[in-house]
Amino acid sequence: MISIKNFINGSYCESLTKDWLEVINPSNGEIYAKLPNSNTQDVHEAYLAAEKAFHSWSKTSVDQRSVILAKIAELIEDQMEILASAESMDNGKPISLARAVDIPRAAYNFKFFSQAVTQFYSESHEQISDKTINYTLRQPLGVVGCISPWNLPLYLFTWKIAPALAAGNCVVAKPSEVTPYTAFLLADICNKAGLPKGVLNIVHGLGKSTGQAIVEHPEIKAISFTGGSETGAHIAKTAAPMFKKLSLELGGKNPNIIFADCDYDKMLTTTVKSSFANQGQICLCGSRIFVEADIYEKFKKDFIKKVSQLKIGLPSEKETDIGAMVSKAHLDKVLGYIAAANKSEATVLCGGQKVSIKNGEKGFYLEPTVIEVSSNNCLLNQEEIFGPVVTLMPFKNATEVLEIANDVKYGLSATVWTNNLKRSMYFSEHLEAGMIWINTWMQRDLRTPFGGQKASGIGREGGFEVLRFFTEAKNICINYE
Ligand code: NAD
Repeated sequence: MISIKNFINGSYCESLTKDWLEVINPSNGEIYAKLPNSNTQDVHEAYLAAEKAFHSWSKTSVDQRSVILAKIAELIEDQMEILASAESMDNGKPISLARAVDIPRAAYNFKFFSQAVTQFYSESHEQISDKTINYTLRQPLGVVGCISPWNLPLYLFTWKIAPALAAGNCVVAKPSEVTPYTAFLLADICNKAGLPKGVLNIVHGLGKSTGQAIVEHPEIKAISFTGGSETGAHIAKTAAPMFKKLSLELGGKNPNIIFADCDYDKMLTTTVKSSFANQGQICLCGSRIFVEADIYEKFKKDFIKKVSQLKIGLPSEKETDIGAMVSKAHLDKVLGYIAAANKSEATVLCGGQKVSIKNGEKGFYLEPTVIEVSSNNCLLNQEEIFGPVVTLMPFKNATEVLEIANDVKYGLSATVWTNNLKRSMYFSEHLEAGMIWINTWMQRDLRTPFGGQKASGIGREGGFEVLRFFTEAKNICINYE
């Protein structure tokens, strides 16, 4: 059994608690590791190490920081295979996905911010009439907290840590207790890359104990959080009165709007991905599919045919399209939504059942599920299910679909399929979402702002936006009269 440890002041160490949690391999339901449930004292030790390291890390030249981050990226790439199989075992995602997306992106997060920080700049404003010049310093905040979820474990963990470190902060970080393994392996990589001790500290444990202790720590200056909207609201309640900087990347219920004039084949292939990639456990998945009435019946038939061809299997097998759901609790939650669907407004068109997989009989597998709904006001269209479940609904015109697309509490992303330029521009302007994809899905350029509106969060990650989040702006005004 693997024993996962905290990483504090450059060393792996046991938690001060003797409270251990079990880590389960979702592909077969077996416990494969134990994990400490760290407490306030563990978090404080991590804070002290970070605080001690901050003085010199914040004074390190941008070039030196950039070199170390680039080295971390290189070492992640060198360990691609080890990390991809660790991620796949821990999360249940197909190994092909971990190899193609999760681990390359984790490496790229470090590479990107190693470069971005060398291009980061602050502003200066001159008022000739007053004979003043203002310039703005962008200073690192100090010790910051980074808390990430289980769906893209190393990908999202590094998406926060890399910019925080690049900007000169020291970090106390917590990965999800459901998928802690690759964060544990990352610590060793950071040591090998020459990251000074104490600059990054990783504490493991439950949200309500370890996570809460990070959020409540009086000296941790900012919290960068990705996870559910309810957790985000709870974190905001705790951290806002302490005047911490807060970045909240939360849930989504994203519309995928399909007009009859789109490139049909491209749309169909991409829509299968945007519905079921990572078992539908990506915050950006398009879980509400709205199709123009003219092509609705054709789309329904073609989509179901393609979905039925997806191969559900062991995450370690290379031909698997749909792996295991992350945990039994999550599988049960998703099944609960399917079971509770009101028969008068929802019809299951395909899927909806648990699957038993050879050599993974106790794993958490669910068929990709397509449900036709008659109204956007049903639970299936209003609540984030975060699994391999999408709904289909026809629409008559642009006005109607824009209204129902926005009629939800979330506002993370939206996809529109059309070749009508005016319509693309109109929807881009009026859809209530932080990120809009036109004729594509999940193509990412890390320079762009990433985040949501409404219950999908506050703040933006990515590019210079996140470097601004992880720095304090201080303006200096000089009069030269
Ligand atoms: P979650 O909110 O349960 O947990 C996320 C992290 O927060 C975990 O590390 C957890 O331990 C920690 N946590 C829980 N309670 C806490 C507390 N009181 N104080 C501090 N930390 C606490 O979310 P999850 O189930 O791990 O992830 C799924 C959710 O994440 C979905 O809602 C999904 O949409 C969202 N998500 C959003 C984005 C985005 O970029 N907007 C990306 C991925 C996932």
